[in-house]
Amino acid sequence: MKKVQMLIDGKMSTALSGETREIRDPGNGEVLALVPESAREDVQRAILAARRAFDEGPWRNTTALDRGKFLFKVADAIRKEAKLLAEIEVRNCGKPLAEAEFDVADAANCFEFYGGLATKIHGETMSVPANSLSFVLREPIGVCGQIIPWNYPLLMASWKLAPALAAGNVCVLKPSELTPLTALELGRILTQLELPAGVVNIVSGPGANAGEELAESPLVDKIAFTGGTATGRKIVLGATSSLKRVSLELGGKNPNIVFEDCDFEAAVDGSLFAAFANQGEVCSAGSRLLVEKSIHARFVQAMLDKIPRIKLGHGLDGGVKMGPLISAAHREKVEQYIRVGVEEGAKLRCGGKRPEGAAFAKGNFLEPTIFDNVIPKMRIAREEIFGPVLSVIPFQNETEAIQIANDTEYGLAAGVWTKNITKGIRVMRAIRAGITWINTYHPTFNELPWGGYKQSGNGRELGLYGIEEYLEVKQVNVNLDEGPLGWY
Ligand code: NDP
Repeated sequence: MKKVQMLIDGKMSTALSGETREIRDPGNGEVLALVPESAREDVQRAILAARRAFDEGPWRNTTALDRGKFLFKVADAIRKEAKLLAEIEVRNCGKPLAEAEFDVADAANCFEFYGGLATKIHGETMSVPANSLSFVLREPIGVCGQIIPWNYPLLMASWKLAPALAAGNVCVLKPSELTPLTALELGRILTQLELPAGVVNIVSGPGANAGEELAESPLVDKIAFTGGTATGRKIVLGATSSLKRVSLELGGKNPNIVFEDCDFEAAVDGSLFAAFANQGEVCSAGSRLLVEKSIHARFVQAMLDKIPRIKLGHGLDGGVKMGPLISAAHREKVEQYIRVGVEEGAKLRCGGKRPEGAAFAKGNFLEPTIFDNVIPKMRIAREEIFGPVLSVIPFQNETEAIQIANDTEYGLAAGVWTKNITKGIRVMRAIRAGITWINTYHPTFNELPWGGYKQSGNGRELGLYGIEEYLEVKQVNVNLDEGPLGWY
């Protein structure tokens, strides 16, 4: 059995207890690797290493140019190992190979984007009052605890590490206990790139204990979290005693609105992709499909006609478009929602069950599921299911579409399909969400800010906004007058 180690203080390391956890392929149940099962003491070791690296080490005083060059090296190294990383991501998360390849390429691009940005972190100067020179410096925050979920492990690791390092911070990253493998591979890659010890630490272990220690430790200056909204609340509570900075990327129940004047084929295809990419295990999934009544029946039928094209299977098998769910427990949670939908009176139009056949027997597979005639108050229209379940809600007119779209505690993402661009922009401006698409769904760019309104989080990742989350702002006043101030 392959034993994988974690990165602490520049060295690959086991847990102090020697304990390990089996990491399984959700497509066939195979044990892929044994990884260290960190306890609080392991995370404390990583935090101390990071603290030393920040307080005494060279990283934060390294020139921005050198930090940028280092991030370019990481991007190159990821590209060199892209095939291996994509394959590990498929085996560990269950996603189709094409999606994993895209994630790996995007992870490399993210390091490159922030490598370029490292040299563009500027302050400002002002003259207040006239006899002083005042300026504002942007400085790294310090030790950043970073906690990521299981749906996009390498990509989320990159979104966290790249801006933090570009800004001169040091990091302790904790991947999900279910999907630590690509993050740990990234740790191995980093050891080959001459990064000073302790600048990046990657610890595998459970959210309870390992994650909590990061949130609670007074030696951690900032916590950046991506995950469920309920966990986000716990992180905030854990961070309260030390009042560390917190940024949160949380869940969503995202509206995808289709008007009768859309490009019909494009909207059908895009709405299926919005709901079922990555098995629907996507925070920004278009899991609430709002369709104008005049085209509703025809639209749903067109989606049903296309469903057979979403081939289920192990992500490494040719032509597969949808893999297994992340775990048996998660599949049961999604199935529970399907039962709730039926009980609430929504019309199950396809899926709702496990696929039959030997190829699916050992994996956590579930058919793509569409509920029609969903009413906004139903639980399947309100709660994040985080699986391949689409709720279709018919609407009468633009005003009603906006009202339904905003009737949620979340505010992460939204889509609108219409050929009337004025209407598209008008509707988008009325929607309370941080990530929006018109006539497309899901494209994500390193250059643009990512994050939610309302209970979908606070702060932004990616783009210029993303680096601000990792910077402190310091004012410096230089008195240009000579002699005493003259107060006493
Ligand atoms: P969780 O919230 O369960 O876990 C996220 C991370 O937090 C994991 O590393 C987990 O560790 C850790 N964790 C769990 N409990 C604690 C705790 N008490 N203290 C500290 N850390 C803890 O989310 P999932 O992994 O289940 O991911 C799915 C969720 O993530 C969805 O709700 C989704 O919407 C959201 N998400 C949001 C994104 C965004 O950008 N807004 C992007 C991707 C996902 P462990 O796995 O070991 O329990």
